[in-house]
Order: sequence, then C-alpha cells, then structure tokens
Amino acid sequence: MSETAVAPPTHFIRQIVAADLAAGKHERLVTRFPPEPNGYLHIGHAKSIALNFGLAQDFQGQCNLRFDDTNPNKENPEFVAAIQADVQWLGYDWGERVFFASDYFEQLYAFALELIDKELAYVCDLNAEQTRSYRGTLTEPGRDSPYRERSVAENRDLFARMRAGEFEDGTRTLRARIDMASPNINLRDPVLYRIKRGVIHHQTGAAWCLYPTYDFTHPLSDALEGVTHSLCTLEFEDHRPLYDWCIEHVSVPTRPRQIEFSRLNLEYAVMSKRILTRLVADGLVAGWDDPRMPTLAGLRRRGYTPAAIRDFCTRIGVTKADNRVEMGLLESAIRDDLDASAPRAMVVLRPLKVVLENWPNERLDTLEAPRHPKNSDLGTRPLPFGRELWIDRQDFAEQPPKGFKRLVPGGEVRLRNAYVIRCEELIRDASGALIELRASVDFNTLGRNPEGRKVKGVIHWVAASAAVEAEVRLYDRLFQTPTPGAGGEGGGGDIIADLNPDSLVVLSGCKAEASLGSAQPGERFQFEREGYFTVDPDSTEPSLVFNRTVTLRDTWGKQVAAQDSKRQTAR
Ligand code: ATP
Ligand code: MG
Repeated sequence: MSETAVAPPTHFIRQIVAADLAAGKHERLVTRFPPEPNGYLHIGHAKSIALNFGLAQDFQGQCNLRFDDTNPNKENPEFVAAIQADVQWLGYDWGERVFFASDYFEQLYAFALELIDKELAYVCDLNAEQTRSYRGTLTEPGRDSPYRERSVAENRDLFARMRAGEFEDGTRTLRARIDMASPNINLRDPVLYRIKRGVIHHQTGAAWCLYPTYDFTHPLSDALEGVTHSLCTLEFEDHRPLYDWCIEHVSVPTRPRQIEFSRLNLEYAVMSKRILTRLVADGLVAGWDDPRMPTLAGLRRRGYTPAAIRDFCTRIGVTKADNRVEMGLLESAIRDDLDASAPRAMVVLRPLKVVLENWPNERLDTLEAPRHPKNSDLGTRPLPFGRELWIDRQDFAEQPPKGFKRLVPGGEVRLRNAYVIRCEELIRDASGALIELRASVDFNTLGRNPEGRKVKGVIHWVAASAAVEAEVRLYDRLFQTPTPGAGGEGGGGDIIADLNPDSLVVLSGCKAEASLGSAQPGERFQFEREGYFTVDPDSTEPSLVFNRTVTLRDTWGKQVAAQDSKRQTAR
C-alpha cells in the first residue's frame, strides 16, 4: 500500500493484512469483533473495535460483530443491546453481519463428533480438581487421564448423554486428545465442552445443557464466518497452537489466522469486567454509564465524542508491547476535539453576587458574544447584562495571594465579553461572612481598553435576572493511583482503597448564562475558564444538570480537586 498524507498510520497487523492481500491469499479481508455480553464495552474494547472495523474499512473488507456467548451464567440481553448501541455510537457498522457463537452450537457439536471419530477427543470423568492435578505444571509434564483411551463408540454414547442432560455439572467433560506432555499447557488435553444444566441461555434458552469452551468455539466460529485475520490480545498467544489445532483437525471451510496485539491499559482506570461489575453491583458508582467509568456508555455520558475516542485509538497505535497509557492522552484527545467544536458559554459554579451601583435599576442590556473564538460559523449568542451579576467566589480575594489578577477590594477586573468593573464595597452578614460585593462599572470599556490604566484580569459572569439554575457535577478520575489495586511494594493492594474520594463533587445552585436555557442532553460546551461540560440526561426543565467532561488544562494533582471537595463538605 502506498503511503499518502491521508493514509492511516501503519502497524504490524496492517502490514500483515496488506501483504496477505497482495499475495492473493484472500480475496477480501474479513475481521470480527467478538465481545462477550457479560458487561458493557470499555475503552479497551474501543481499541479492538477501531482496529477490526477500521482495517475492514480501509481495505474494503468486512468486520463481523460476533457475540462470544458460551458462558450463559454471566451474560444477558441488556449487555447484548448495550454493546450494539456502543459499537454504532463509535461510528462502526456491521451491516447484516451480527452473529452469535451460539448460532453455531449445532455445528460445533458436529465438529466435536468429528474429533471423537478421529480419536482426537474423549469424554473424561475427572472432576475439575482432578483435571487440574493431572495437568502438571510449567516444569512437569501432565499425566494421561484414565479415560483417555475410551473407544469411539463409548465416547459417542457418553457425549450424546451429556447433551441429553443425564449427568450433573462438573462430572464429565469432553477433552481434546492432544499431548499431556506438551510444554504448552494449553495443549494438555484441553476441555472442549462442559455441562451447565438448568441455565437459561439468552439466545438458545433451555436447548442446551452442554457448552463449548472459548478455545474450541473461537477458531471454529472464525472459520465458519470466513474470518481471514482473527485479532486478539496478547494473553491468547499461548492459545494460538490450540487455535490452529482446532482449525487443522476439523473440516472447516476456511483457515483464519490469529494475530495478537497488546491490550490497552490506562492509568487511573481499570478495564477488568470483573472489577467493573463489582463497582456497579456494590454501588460504588451510579451504574455502567456513570461518567467516571471507563465504559463507552460512561465516556459518552461524560461528554466524550466518538471522534475523540477514535482519535485516541489512532494515537496509541497497535503493537505487541505491554504498557499503560497515560490518562492525559485520552484527555487531550477530547480537549482537542471540543476545543475546535464546542460552543463557549459562561457558567458561574460558586456564585457570589455583585451589584453595580452606578448601573440603572431597570436597565437590562443585551450584549453579544461569539459562540466560538475561531469558528465564526457558530455565530453569536445574546448576553443579558444588568445591575446584578454573579461572579465566581474564586475570582474574588479579600487578601489576594501574590500574582492574583482577578477582583480584589478597590481593584478592577474585566468581565469577559463586557465591561471593566471596580470593587467598591464588601457586604457581610451578621456572622461576618461575605455575601455580596458592591461595584461600579466603567461605561467606556465595552469592547475597548480603559483609559490611562491597564486591567489585566478577565473573569466570567452571569446576569442575575437572566441566569438559569444548574447543577454541575465535577467528575474526576475514579482512582487516585495510576495502577489501581497494584498496592505498594510487593503488590496485593485493595482496589477499593484506591478509589479517588474526590472523583465526584456536586455543585448545586450554579448560575448559567441565559443561552443555555434551551440546552439539550448530550450537547457539549466549553464553560469559559472552567472546562468542557455536557448536559446530563438527568436534566429536567427548568433545572439543568451538567457533567464536567474534562478541565481546560491538565490540572490532575494540582489543588483544584482538593479545593472543590473542601467547599463541598463545608456546604
Ligand atoms: P475481561 O477480561 O475484562 O472480561 P475480555 O477481554 O474477556 O475482558 P471480551 O468481551 O471477551 O472481554 O473482549 C472482546 C474483544 O475485545 C476481545 O477480542 C478482546 O481481546 C478485546 N479487548 C478486551 N479488552 C481489551 C483491551 N483492554 N484492549 C484491547 N482489546 C481488548
Ligand atoms: Mg473474553
């Protein structure tokens, strides 16, 4: 493939695919994305989706969506539906080609009989523990099962009776007859079928009480679908000989090739579905779509765009090197996207009233501001401006620290998109707490510099009479350590103890500019000076709920989170 400016970045799998196609090995590239419907998809899956669907797009091939549904106890139709919605949301299309491994149960059963007939599979009566002890270790070979030499007729009979539900769970398995002394433990007569009676499968109902294992199902499903390149994560490298063994010894129509790449690990996040399931089940997050979750549903609710996630997947690339990607990389992908696309708005998160004493009581002007500093196609927004305004408490300091450029007693500041004001007086309640500022406006400063002096600071504001009430949810990283659960030296840490106590701070009574009154769930904005935010589906008129997607700059570890959480507890 010739490299052009628009060519997607190359990587070893793309090179293999290009070479195979150039050599005429296949007419057409066929890949698949094979999720198990036992949870929601996460950002790690996005890497696999972008790779499989992306290659199919780039080479005019096709990518199948195949549910790997051989473990009915943990799977359910909610996950099937959520996975389809998430893949579509990411921007990929499987057309008609959505499949379930369970579609092939009958064919897989026939393949198993074929192996029995070739004396390459047998019914084994060892239970799970015995099977383990016969298996040997990395340094010692295994021992043959006493049931290994059963006749074809006996194996056929027992296998049929396993299917008929005559035997209890765990009492018998079907095993491949390969080599108990193989240095690769996966080849020591691996289990192909196990009995699971009494479970209702979400696709096949009560039709089966015998379920094939992943190692048997996956290669044969790939072959039945005509998959040419079966891309999976590195932990399956040791399973590849078994993958190839299944393809070789069963009469399948095509010969797929397994290629492994490294999985995505992300700092301050976990990808294990087991742990994500636990977070949801134990109520440690609000659900699979909690905006702190690394799930696609969570990222969507957080305000991430499909384009940013695809861009992130391109940036991390595809290699065989195990690594952990910095959270900052994901955050910068969404910042870059939203900086270019998100309309600007002003929202005061911690309101402090300012009364402009020289502004006429009833006068309410309408100023105008661009919706986007660089993209004039987005037009302008009207900004009501009156005698009473809200500013952020953090933009005023009675005793300013060194270098503080915002409002101070007797000092001036520019209100963004409006005038310069001067703080004239502090109003306190009976306990002495500051409740309001009195200020004066310089009428000659709309759109121009004040005369004879420089005013450095610029702050955002909202006109009190036109403000829209909002709740703002400040989301941060779910975990406070880059490798959650890893523990200190020696490992063995408790992942729950690594949760970030400040991962959510809810601010109520926030004041949004009037133009946000009609904002709809899913719309995204830059709140000037604060970050990127999206309207949460919890929003109901007239009160809006916004989720913080990401701060404007990488402030992780700096004071911001700590300050917000102190304020929250003080409320
Ligand atoms: P878990 O171990 O948490 O249950 P899984 O890998 O079993 O995750 P599946 O639903 O079986 O989850 O994954 C579907 C596909 O997505 C597989 O091909 C798998 O290799 C890939 N995948 C899963 N997690 C990642 C990840 N972190 N990075 C890249 N690919 C991944
Ligand atoms: Mg899996």
